[in-house]
Amino acid sequence: DAGGGGAGGDEALRVLRRVFGYDSFRGPQQEIIDHVIAGGDALVLMPTGGGKSLCYQIPALVRRGTGVVVSPLIALMQDQVDALRAVGVRAGFLNSTQDMEERRLVEAEFLAGELDLLYLAPERLRGEATMSLLARGEVSLFAIDEAHCVAQWGHDFRPDYLALSALHERWPGIPRIALTATATEATHTEIARRLDLGGARHFVASFDRPNIQYRIEPKNDPRKQLLRLLRTEHEGDAGIVYCLSRASVERTAEFLVRNGIEAVPYHAGLDAPVRAAHQSRFLREDGLVVVATIAFGMGIDKPDVRFVAHLDLPKSLEGYYQETGRAGRDGLPSTAWLAYGLQDVVQQRKMIETSEGGEAHRRVLRAHVDAMLALCETVECRRVHLLDYFGEKGTACGNCDTCLTPPASWDGTVPAQKVLSTVVRLDRERRQKFGAGQITDILLGRKTAKVIQHDHDALSVFGIGADLGELEWRGVIRQLLAQGLLAVEGEYGTLVLTPTSAEVLGGRREVRLRREPERPAGRSPKGSS
Ligand code: ADP
Ligand code: ZN
Repeated sequence: DAGGGGAGGDEALRVLRRVFGYDSFRGPQQEIIDHVIAGGDALVLMPTGGGKSLCYQIPALVRRGTGVVVSPLIALMQDQVDALRAVGVRAGFLNSTQDMEERRLVEAEFLAGELDLLYLAPERLRGEATMSLLARGEVSLFAIDEAHCVAQWGHDFRPDYLALSALHERWPGIPRIALTATATEATHTEIARRLDLGGARHFVASFDRPNIQYRIEPKNDPRKQLLRLLRTEHEGDAGIVYCLSRASVERTAEFLVRNGIEAVPYHAGLDAPVRAAHQSRFLREDGLVVVATIAFGMGIDKPDVRFVAHLDLPKSLEGYYQETGRAGRDGLPSTAWLAYGLQDVVQQRKMIETSEGGEAHRRVLRAHVDAMLALCETVECRRVHLLDYFGEKGTACGNCDTCLTPPASWDGTVPAQKVLSTVVRLDRERRQKFGAGQITDILLGRKTAKVIQHDHDALSVFGIGADLGELEWRGVIRQLLAQGLLAVEGEYGTLVLTPTSAEVLGGRREVRLRREPERPAGRSPKGSS
């Protein structure tokens, strides 16, 4: 085998320089690589862009036999293998995109001991065919990439990953290295348990991304807000804009193009060749903006992405961190910008409450959204908040929006009571449920058709909110939702009280709200009441 750790270490450094052309290891890479070369199991937690690949590629080159890499990123395997072959690494892959002939060729290479690395789609390991193929060759290590896919309640569960525990039973002596960028303690524990990695050493790289400026602002006119950001700060820069739906991806890309910004859409509904073309343009060109659903970006390695913008609220902090982490891999200043509004909260809560799956599952989804909302509404440093979520301590970064312009908080008890009383009045009607729009109209005293139709102008709360504008009310309602003082029910997004609402209505609980930043000029915050 590879001999002592020291020898392995020297050899590893030689490979890093000779094959990959880098001078030195980054973060915990060296320790991980030495550990795996020496035959140890490892669980590696490293943020996106941290350099996980080398952690198994170098041991695979140093140890005898072929390193088997399990990865769900089938679309990227060809690129990964091409890149490795370009620097002289003997790599191949087996997945469903190949025909029989191509597969045979790779299998033959593996059996002849002519591969340093073999990439496999997880579903390959379901059948006995691949297992027995592996048994007939020589495996140096197993690398399980995107290992969080084994976590049942995680944001990216893949059932095929559950079968990976069989690797250990069949090849108990071969080191395994599981890698992920998802860092919560719960996911951690679940990976170790499901992959039978109880004895593995854990390596945790810092999740801190000091060159990323985190900014979250209220969503009023998202496309215009985005355009302003691009024009004032990111003219000609490459970036990614994430939207939740395919339709809004299309609309946003068209909007940007109409406004003179080079942008292309990317989502799973586009034909594969179009998607591939847009992706490769993004990788090759200098200043292209990709507007995408979260289908875009897994494994994308472009160092000079200057901004990542979210036009919709991500479903979890893990997702948010992973997506924003695609910005600034080159270490230069970059922006992570998110616009988020009342409708995001209502929509996500609604989706969860009407989702299939049991209550336990819904509870997990709720916890994910709540964690995301907590970041949006925090009055503290965004980066500290993020790091804290991932189990790290930090000090105020001085670079995020809340550090640069600390948001004032204000006593929102009275406005909160006005909203909650209106919800109570509407709730008494039973027959029909109403959402945030109707509540705002009532508070503002607007005689809309729907208000008149339901005699809502006769309610005692009609017009009691004329002291604030529509956007302020939407902000209040959004924050009440985020704080759990209001809940969303049913497919129409009806607002209902929660057990804690009564404390506010009864004057036993103060409500602190985050003061929304001054709105940029152009539109009046006051409604048209
Ligand atoms: P991850 O899988 O953790 O997202 P990658 O393995 O794709 O990250 O690495 C991200 C980028 O960093 C790649 O371009 C890679 O070549 C580069 N990289 C990794 N390790 C080093 C290193 N020690 N020195 C310089 N660049 C590195
Ligand atoms: Zn900060």
